[in-house]
Amino acid sequence: MNEQDLRQLEEASSVTQVAIELGIKVQGNRGRCFKAERHPFAADTMTLYFDTVRNSYFCRVCEDLKGSVIDLVSQFRNVSREEAVSWLEHRLEFDLLTRERYQTKGRKKR
Ligand SMILES: [Zn+2]
Repeated sequence: MNEQDLRQLEEASSVTQVAIELGIKVQGNRGRCFKAERHPFAADTMTLYFDTVRNSYFCRVCEDLKGSVIDLVSQFRNVSREEAVSWLEHRLEFDLLTRERYQTKGRKKR
């Protein structure tokens, strides 16, 4: 995958949408840290911040949780960057497929 493909993949994968699909609790541009058990204060869990313009995220408490939507998938699923990229590709293909199917169904035959 070249740089341009990667950029397109990132652009097509909204960081908040991907977070929700991963099962992260999201409220607006904040989310529940998926490593909140490491936080010094147990109640302090809604510490993820999503930057929808840059399509990136970070945890206010965990110094190592931050980055792009690819980093989010890789850190959440504990997989390599390559695996995270193919997960996102797969997700996108699936998304396009369902959309296509839906649109074909709704279209009237002439
Ligand atoms: Zn955290």
